[in-house]
Amino acid sequence: MSEQVNISELVGQEWGIYIDGKSQKASTAKTVDLLSPANGEKIASVAVGAAEDVDLAVKSAHKAFKEWGALTAFERERVIKKALDYVRTQADRLGMLMALEQGKPFAQSRKEILGSCDTIDYYASEGPRIEGYINPVEKSNYRSLVMYQPIGVCGLITPWNYPVSLLSWKLGPALATGCTIVVKPTMVTPLSPTAFCMALVEGGIPPGVLNVVTGSGSVVGEALVKHPMVKKIAMTGSSDTGKRIMQTAAPYLKKVSLELGGQCPAIVCADADLDNAAYVIAYKGFRNCGQSCSSVNRVYVHESVHQQFLEKLKIEAEKLSLGDGVIEQDVDLGPMTTVDGLNIVKAHVEDALSKGATLITGGKAPEGVKYQQGNYYLPTILDQATDDMQVMRDETFGPVVPVQVFQDLKDAVEKANDTTYGLVSYLFTKDLRTAHETSETLEAGTIAINCGSVNTNYAPYQGWKDSGFGLELSRKSVFEYLKTKHIKIELV
Ligand code: NAP
Repeated sequence: MSEQVNISELVGQEWGIYIDGKSQKASTAKTVDLLSPANGEKIASVAVGAAEDVDLAVKSAHKAFKEWGALTAFERERVIKKALDYVRTQADRLGMLMALEQGKPFAQSRKEILGSCDTIDYYASEGPRIEGYINPVEKSNYRSLVMYQPIGVCGLITPWNYPVSLLSWKLGPALATGCTIVVKPTMVTPLSPTAFCMALVEGGIPPGVLNVVTGSGSVVGEALVKHPMVKKIAMTGSSDTGKRIMQTAAPYLKKVSLELGGQCPAIVCADADLDNAAYVIAYKGFRNCGQSCSSVNRVYVHESVHQQFLEKLKIEAEKLSLGDGVIEQDVDLGPMTTVDGLNIVKAHVEDALSKGATLITGGKAPEGVKYQQGNYYLPTILDQATDDMQVMRDETFGPVVPVQVFQDLKDAVEKANDTTYGLVSYLFTKDLRTAHETSETLEAGTIAINCGSVNTNYAPYQGWKDSGFGLELSRKSVFEYLKTKHIKIELV
């Protein structure tokens, strides 16, 4: 149990929208109840915002932009880092809110809060390193300078699987470049992102620089995308929602960046370190109950190591502990976040079994009284998977790893690429030539060879095809929040 957090004080509160440093009721005066994925009990009630609330929040951000955008990057770096010092002291409380609403065990939720602070810290340091440049010119009395300026008010729209981490990927570059912000967290997990933003303001980010409006995507999200004072939208979510957002933003010629869905393949070659492959694939397939855009969704394994690999993967899957991560805080897996998500998993597994897949492990909820009220599902491995199965084509977004055998690596690569998605592809081999040549032909923005840690602050994360537009992470992502200005001078 976390000794620092009194869980009963966190539960049962009414959460408002957060504008200009103040928590307030939404204009609708409506709230919805948020229920625990572990036991179905009420956790909190959350304000249902409307377009009027978005307008208030955007105007607050617009007003704050005049001062925040005018600070030097060095001044902003100091303010942001001081605020982060405070947020880090709140990691237990914020992590517990995430564990309560999302189902992610407390230890992992707390880690997500601290990792999110590190991401924002990375960008705070990056701010003073955004350099302009001076061009060579055609006449001796010309001067040509290029500089970057913050784009203005940004609308950040976020999903529920990593509710604070995916927010920090956007907050970091937005704050460091001098933009001001309105966040629209998903209504599935609104508490931890709202509390995280409030903590940043309590720690010293000026009120108005960071605002949060809760409410549905179709109302609050749309109003944010359409608002003429919002100059940029950054969103993580499903490909369908991303495409809708892009269409809505098009008439306003808004800058948009989208991190979207995935259906990520893993290829296990004959020469792979099978212990490592099984460990990484279990980690990427089952972590956070498979509710990750970069989850391993399907495995192609060379026929010569198929049985050996399956045995090792089964051992890894069956090692994982399940429980309510609010109480059993170090457990590996909590419940899935939503009943809808759980039903998709059940339907995909049923579809695969009806089409001839072999169940190696899992395929059902764990047995026992403590699992009866929650959205629990065992880590599941399916062998003999075929291309027509939903688990091999759609985003299952659950703890399911289907396995198919290959003879020729070329066929495995072709199958890996045969998808509308292009987020992450995994490859397991010890051969340098295979590693280089195959990574060059795999169609994804990230190729992970013999490892699963795909998201790092220092490297770009870009979805190809239906998996995204623009990029996040790395120093390059600051340009998603900047405008370019060329200043040409004739010395008369
Ligand atoms: P989602 O249903 O697409 O929702 C994402 C966000 O968009 C939510 O805040 C949602 O609000 C909002 N939204 C919905 N309709 C909108 C509209 N018309 N206009 C503006 N905003 C709108 O996705 P999700 O179920 O939360 O998240 C899971 C998906 O995210 C998966 O597909 C996963 O692969 C993807 N994902 C991608 C990455 C990546 O980096 N590529 C990372 C994590 C997750 P409400 O939910 O409140 O309605």
